[in-house]
Amino acid sequence: MMNADLHSHSSFSDGTLAPEALVSRAAARGVELFALTDHDQLEGLAGARAAALACGLNFIDGVEISVTWRGATVHVVGLDIDPLNARLRNGLETVRAGRLARARAIAAELAAGGIEGSLEGALKHAAESPSMVGRSHFARHLADAGVVTDAKAAFRHYLVPGKPGYVPHRWAALADALGWIGAAGGIAVLAHPGRYALSSDALRDLLGEFRDCGGAAIEVVTGSHTSEEYRRFAALALQYGLAASRGSDFHSPDESAELGSLPDLADRLVPVWEQLAGAH
Ligand code: AMP
Ligand code: MN
Ligand code: MN
Ligand code: MN
Repeated sequence: MMNADLHSHSSFSDGTLAPEALVSRAAARGVELFALTDHDQLEGLAGARAAALACGLNFIDGVEISVTWRGATVHVVGLDIDPLNARLRNGLETVRAGRLARARAIAAELAAGGIEGSLEGALKHAAESPSMVGRSHFARHLADAGVVTDAKAAFRHYLVPGKPGYVPHRWAALADALGWIGAAGGIAVLAHPGRYALSSDALRDLLGEFRDCGGAAIEVVTGSHTSEEYRRFAALALQYGLAASRGSDFHSPDESAELGSLPDLADRLVPVWEQLAGAH
């Protein structure tokens, strides 16, 4: 099966590698079809595409949109989108708009618990794209500052619901995110469905609504799923008539699954890349 990796982040969102370095790493790891899918942001795509062209790697323009659905945060990946599309660009601008205010509120909460200076610290990690400042940047700062041992630990002790430094936020509506992706000619993929704080009934409602609003696929094999979840979401993809995607959700060499190294999709699934123009 083709080595497709259709979910990754660069330093234009909360990854640590520049788009060019990310693309070289993907090529070196044997990836044959690669998508950059920064959170709510398209600025890294041109550099990634140029680098991919230079090293002969088949490249897909992507994005990962933050969505609020029934009060829970869910992520929708758009693949093969037109990065110049005005509806998509305007929509993403509205999604990014609240990030800095949220970051101030996160920092204020951490300061109330005795951790000072975290806004400045987080912004240092978001230097490429300050309007994208988010929890990963705070997590890296908390690790640097010695408050926690590593960024992962920051997401156990801080920054998540019920812990200091969690500030709820309203992202895009699901139908809006799917509308922007469709307007930009892209294909919508529900990212890492195993990661959401939803009951199994609510998750089924989400899959149904996602498909009815034009969603095409779900991530089955992703760095955020266990092997048991590969099987669970393979079955749900088939049951809901959705194609399947594979993506590492790579953020950084020392924080996430490696590029292009996850297991293949099960043979009975329809790979989402069969629907991507020029991808096979
Ligand atoms: P934000 O959009 O600013 O709320 O940040 C969400 C990002 O935080 C995700 O895309 C992940 O990169 C990261 N993240 C969320 N939860 C965790 C976790 N438990 N462990 C590691 N990273 C996480
Ligand atoms: Mn992220
Ligand atoms: Mn995500
Ligand atoms: Mn991601």
